[in-house]
Amino acid sequence: MDADVIVVGAGLAGLVAAHELTTAGKKVALLDQENAANLGGQAWWSFGGLFFVDSPEQRRARISDSVELAWSDWRGSAGFDRLDDEDSWAVKWARAYVEFAAGEKRSWLAGLGMSWLPFAGWAERGDLRAGGHGNSVPRFHITWGTGTGVAEPFIASARRAASAGLLEFRHRHRVDELVVEGGAVVGVRGKLLKNDDSARGVSSNREEIDDFEVRAQAVIVTTGGIGANHDLVRQYWPERLGTAPKSMITGVPRYVDGRMLGIAEAAGARLVNRDRMWHYTEGIRNWDPIWPAHGIRILSCLYVYKRQTCGPRPTWPSTTTPGSSSPRR
Ligand SMILES: Cc1cc2nc3c(=O)[nH]c(=O)nc-3n(C[C@H](O)[C@H](O)[C@H](O)COP(=O)(O)OP(=O)(O)OC[C@H]3O[C@@H](n4cnc5c(N)ncnc54)[C@H](O)[C@@H]3O)c2cc1C
Repeated sequence: MDADVIVVGAGLAGLVAAHELTTAGKKVALLDQENAANLGGQAWWSFGGLFFVDSPEQRRARISDSVELAWSDWRGSAGFDRLDDEDSWAVKWARAYVEFAAGEKRSWLAGLGMSWLPFAGWAERGDLRAGGHGNSVPRFHITWGTGTGVAEPFIASARRAASAGLLEFRHRHRVDELVVEGGAVVGVRGKLLKNDDSARGVSSNREEIDDFEVRAQAVIVTTGGIGANHDLVRQYWPERLGTAPKSMITGVPRYVDGRMLGIAEAAGARLVNRDRMWHYTEGIRNWDPIWPAHGIRILSCLYVYKRQTCGPRPTWPSTTTPGSSSPRR
């Protein structure tokens, strides 16, 4: 065996898995099709907004939150309606996650060095009712440093584990197959891609220079979503939304290609809820794209209320900017 555990994908999910494993003394082979500059994947580009429930930031702003309210909101958004089939694990996972977000999540991350802006933002707020769609109270906690602030502690942990001989980085290793023997996944096979010094997020070459096979007692697949693969997005587009838009832009780097879904399925994995995908509809083309059809989202400015409450929004005099007495230009 080459390691105790193979982790495919060095985005945030893969790095967190590697962190947990190496902290427990396990040997990890961390494979990714991209180069070392891309460690952290999408999370590095993200806003770093984290879901906490009944946090000190919320309490300071007199926002009353609880596990049951967050659970009600979650169910309102998820609309679990396939409970005896595709949603059966999702609902258990969701409940456990809401409890985690109300419990050890914040102290665990703080222990790794993360901290948050001193207020909670109100993302994904839906229809503003606890039973309806979206967050009925502000729960979006922005990490200091945004996405980099989330990714860096885990990148640092992986590097420490590598120095201690517990983790082996295998960059430019593109997995094309899960090796199944005796009904169990025992390893991965794929192609070693030619070295590429491109900067983070820039599409890299796909020139194959060798085959590889790695074996371990367990394999974890954390290869992200399908956002950069418009063919897959169209293929799985929810029927209830009609035809997919003719023209789409892309909020994620090209490596978010969704290839691993089909590879896992070929090895016997059951894919569920393919038609449930999350897209933002308010993106615009980046004038200076890093990846193909690079779309960015523009957020309205965040109002930090002196007394943030769940009541009606404060009204500001129409000619002034909050916090300033001079007329708005
Ligand atoms: C601009 C932006 C803003 C966001 N803001 C927020 C936010 O504020 N809050 C929030 O919660 N979320 C946010 N998100 C979403 C969040 O960042 C992602 O859901 C999360 O980072 C995904 O992590 P991941 O590890 O699952 O996947 P990824 O980061 O996509 O990592 C997957 C890795 O797997 C590798 N890989 C794929 N296929 C293979 C293969 N066959 N062989 C080898 N390697 C492979 C890829 O190269 C990649 O490195 C944002 C995302 C973006 C892009």
